[in-house]
Amino acid sequence: MRDIKELSLDELGKKLLSLGSNKYYAKEIFGWIYKKGALAFDRMSNLPAVLRRSLSEEFYILGLKPVGLEKSKDGVEKFLFELKDKNLVESVSIPASSRITGCISSQAGCKYACNFCASGLKGFKRNLSKGEILDEVLYLKNNCKAGSLTHIVFMGTGEPLDNYDNVIGAIRAINSRDALNIGARRITISTCGIIPGIERLAKEDLQVELSVSLHAADDKTRDMLMPVNKRYPLEKLMACLGQYIEKTNRQITFEYILIKGVNSGAASSQKLALLLKKIKLAKINLIPANPVAELNIAPPSRSDIISFKESLLKAGLNVTLRRERGQDISAACGQLRLKYEKI
Ligand code: SAH
Repeated sequence: MRDIKELSLDELGKKLLSLGSNKYYAKEIFGWIYKKGALAFDRMSNLPAVLRRSLSEEFYILGLKPVGLEKSKDGVEKFLFELKDKNLVESVSIPASSRITGCISSQAGCKYACNFCASGLKGFKRNLSKGEILDEVLYLKNNCKAGSLTHIVFMGTGEPLDNYDNVIGAIRAINSRDALNIGARRITISTCGIIPGIERLAKEDLQVELSVSLHAADDKTRDMLMPVNKRYPLEKLMACLGQYIEKTNRQITFEYILIKGVNSGAASSQKLALLLKKIKLAKINLIPANPVAELNIAPPSRSDIISFKESLLKAGLNVTLRRERGQDISAACGQLRLKYEKI
């Protein structure tokens, strides 16, 4: 059995022709899956019964199985899914006043072993396929009120630019009018700074948002927090991001987790201001660290967080402080999977 979501509209059209059917049913089938949330071919009532039968003999629609759910008091829901090969992935749905953001994983496990993140603790398992990424999005969409899943962020487990083709393939379906029809500007790729991936992304005809997990403005601290910095150090990364902005004219958001005793003092904010003043169209998103018991990290005090923000504002930078969500559940990346695997 194959995942029908691996097929583009064109490929599905060709498949239908080879089944002796009409290629124009491809649009109908896309509509049933992506717009109406149908999870079985039997529901596709305007398709000939014989076509429904042949499709269900060869394809499945949803590949993952929900095995865990945590609901936060503030409406955040964290899902744990089992893939066909028993690997586990997480997705989170984050409601705000007029939007719901789906936080999607791109890999099972993670290679990058950032020092503050639960996702890398169990190592890397494998890339998710395009269909598995779309599974997560569809599951979240079907779980929300119709039309209310408005934004997608690749900030779950894994490094999206290390699974480039499958992530971009999924984004094309998320963005397509014939499929999920979520505007490209409402889709965010978050990267730990994979330079070749950023260079490729600059050349795509896709207006997606780019977030870079920075977390330190000097190589010594960033090497310690994010081993990937040894491969793609700050100077090269910043040069690459400068070119990305030149080429696309799009803003980049820099994510900066504030970790007590590590990167949240006055010297760190000055370094950060110096580094980002050189980048036009930079936005900084400060995130108080989510405690991860296994990693012994904690956020700084409220007053240290505020002074860090104030000093960046004074330096003329565009700064936001992320509201912490889902604090009462295993909200930080990889925490739900970790908990489940420990049982
Ligand atoms: N590999 C990608 C996407 C996954 S991480 C990347 O590095 O951007 C998504 C975001 O969650 C990143 O900004 C990451 O730094 C952040 N994150 C991971 N662990 C966290 C923690 N303990 N507290 C707060 N944010 C965390």
